[in-house]
Amino acid sequence: MVVVVIIGILVAIAVPIYNSVQAQAQEKACFATLRTVDGAAQMAAADGDATTTHDDYLEAGWGCPTTGTITVNLGTKSECSVHGTY
Ligand SMILES: [Zn+2]
Repeated sequence: MVVVVIIGILVAIAVPIYNSVQAQAQEKACFATLRTVDGAAQMAAADGDATTTHDDYLEAGWGCPTTGTITVNLGTKSECSVHGTY
């Protein structure tokens, strides 16, 4: 019985910490994506071809690791609807 209580206490401590660390990792992954997108947007702008966009320099499927929508802002930092900007 004591063992079950101790395990319950450890789980009660570990689960919130796990959730917090997971949220921080998703935010950092989103910020890394935003930096990559900004670099791709700058390369597309420097390309000089009006038909080239940041998507041409990125692999398909890029985006926020959660449900955020990324807005690409040329000249300023891009932004995620969930995590903001880096
Ligand atoms: Zn995001």
